[in-house]
Amino acid sequence: MTGKTHVGIGVMSTVVLSQYNVVELTLGGLVICALASLLPDIDHPKAFLNKYILPIKNKSVKTSIYFTIGIFFILLNLFYLNIKYVEIIGIFFILTGFSSHRNGITHSLVGLISFSSTFGYAARTYGFREYIVPFFIGYGLHILADMFTNRGVSLFYPFRKKKYKMPITFSVGSFWGNLFEGLIISGGLIYLTLKLPEILLNMK
Ligand SMILES: [Zn+2]
Repeated sequence: MTGKTHVGIGVMSTVVLSQYNVVELTLGGLVICALASLLPDIDHPKAFLNKYILPIKNKSVKTSIYFTIGIFFILLNLFYLNIKYVEIIGIFFILTGFSSHRNGITHSLVGLISFSSTFGYAARTYGFREYIVPFFIGYGLHILADMFTNRGVSLFYPFRKKKYKMPITFSVGSFWGNLFEGLIISGGLIYLTLKLPEILLNMK
């Protein structure tokens, strides 16, 4: 699934859920949700986020860079910070480096929980609690959306490697896949345009 579709699903759902008071609607929250919906694909060397993080889109380069960043966080924590969550970020980067697309930690419940709790910890520490739910929505719906593709996701990684998918799936890049993703994006844009006056009025 393309990054655009994931962002569309995340942002649209946040707006819909805000109508039912599940989440507070803020511009910052929508931005965080958009970023969080791109985050699980960080394990893909050609992913949207990696285009900006990595200088070369190659698997061994990706692995070594993430490995180095991971070790950096762990050492930083060991010698200076001593905060449990910083260590989690470090371990996460190392695991991400060794994960191949969708076979690893970022598309699993463990990934969802560790990323969300790390973000939640930072959000509570620095006072932007209202972004925790949008983050969770963006990240969680990415995994759920990928379950509608024929490749599925390894939901219980690293405990089980089995891939889980929905009874009805489509293949990414196929005619139906593109049509489906196109419909989601255009439906989302129409919905957002209709809701825009209300969103702007509600925002502080
Ligand atoms: Zn994905």
